[in-house]
Amino acid sequence: TSFGFKEVREEEKSQMVGNVFTSVASNYDLMNDLMSAGLHRLWKERLISKLNPFPGMKHLDVAGGTGDVAFRILETINSVKRRALQDFLEDNLLEETQIYICDINPNMLNVGKKRALERGLGEDRSLTWVEGDAESLNFVNDSMDGYTIAFGIRNVTHIEKVLAEAYRVLKRGGRFLCLELSHVEIPIFKELYDYYSFSVIPAMGELVAGDRESYQYLVESIRRFPSQEKFASMIADAGFQKVEYENLVGGVVATHSGLKI
Ligand code: SAM
Repeated sequence: TSFGFKEVREEEKSQMVGNVFTSVASNYDLMNDLMSAGLHRLWKERLISKLNPFPGMKHLDVAGGTGDVAFRILETINSVKRRALQDFLEDNLLEETQIYICDINPNMLNVGKKRALERGLGEDRSLTWVEGDAESLNFVNDSMDGYTIAFGIRNVTHIEKVLAEAYRVLKRGGRFLCLELSHVEIPIFKELYDYYSFSVIPAMGELVAGDRESYQYLVESIRRFPSQEKFASMIADAGFQKVEYENLVGGVVATHSGLKI
């Protein structure tokens, strides 16, 4: 059975998204690796290299789920290359790096907290886990240097509200970055990709996670998401400047970015 999602009213959508992620939380990371053949790691690395994180930054990762993006940002900041700069900043009593992981689903955050422990980041005071809705964030205006949302905006009820909130919490000069499954327009590759997503992914979901419907829903949500161009214009409408996007793997995934000036 499919969700017959078109008839679902808005209020029910967020509830349903909640159920989907509660159901997938424990298998989430494994399924990510399987469905993308490990590519999601490269895509996230691409997102982070665009973000260019720096020690002392205040960063908000929305729909942060099990912490994958946040860990990568923190590890980039802590990497050897930046260590000297960080030591300098700490010695000079500049502010500490703060990375907030915000997600509407406590189950995803709990998996993330466990993963942080496993990665030796359990004691790291730079990470803060916050339960919250991307459409109405509990953060003050002009407080963040960076904002990321990876594979999250597709699932929200009102994309415009999420973009307005991103704009609100960013400082001037702060960057908005989004990574999302997008639209493939290349002939033949498009047909192959459609087959993969409509047939292989739900089957994989059933086999690995015992949950075909959630993965069916995930695939349908990709189709409903606006095109690269349309989404870029929505980002500009929210007030962002220098809006750009980049297709990865022919548009299977796209990064979108904008600056609050
Ligand atoms: N960013 C992570 C990653 O790339 O691995 C997790 C992505 S996961 C596909 C989508 C996440 O969005 C889920 O953890 C879900 O709970 C969260 N989410 C859905 N709607 C949300 C909302 N309105 N506000 C915040 N998080 C939301």
